[in-house]
Amino acid sequence: MIVLGSHNRHKGIEMNEILAPLGIQLKTLADFPNAIDVMEDGHSFRENAEKKAVEQARNLNCWVVAEDSGISVPVLNGEPGIYSARFAGPHATDEQNNDLLLKKLGDLPLEKREAYYTCFMVLSDPEGKIQFAGEGKCWGTILYERHGSNGFGYDPLFKVRGYDYTFGELPSDIKSRISHRAQATQLFIAWIKDHRELFS
Ligand code: IMP
Repeated sequence: MIVLGSHNRHKGIEMNEILAPLGIQLKTLADFPNAIDVMEDGHSFRENAEKKAVEQARNLNCWVVAEDSGISVPVLNGEPGIYSARFAGPHATDEQNNDLLLKKLGDLPLEKREAYYTCFMVLSDPEGKIQFAGEGKCWGTILYERHGSNGFGYDPLFKVRGYDYTFGELPSDIKSRISHRAQATQLFIAWIKDHRELFS
């Protein structure tokens, strides 16, 4: 059994879609009343993912996988980056974050609207030792308006490189194969397959 160190329901669903076929039981923090709120005050996706995995693993005395993810826009000097969830303010909604991103990009032409999602994933053992760390990236373009309502966060604005659609329009099984989280998770799965005995 592995605990996903996140309160984000969408991430739980996506991670479960990927781990279930491997027969690995995934629990979420909702299953643990004694879960702590880990401060996401790191300076990189990596630091935040490490904190979320290690501090929660020590607290629950369980294996914990955590990830930190977000979208970076080079023409905005990497914004919103690690602040993706709270781009428009501490309790910003996806709507508000998307509106702010559109406002900041204004009418810049498509070639200047390139962006990439990053996902940094870390697995900690119950003692707080990092056993796995891996990163996935997924490139695309921020369109001028929302398309589709699948996914979450910036997905309706993010046209995936190599596809004519946004993550808001693509079915979830395609996103589960090609996204930044999917890529980090594939690395994680490869590690799990080599260390299956630890979780049986
Ligand atoms: P975290 O929960 O602190 O890792 O923040 C992740 C934030 O990055 C989310 O709230 C979204 O705004 C954004 N994000 C990360 N992954 C995705 C994705 O797959 N689709 C859309 N937005 C994402």
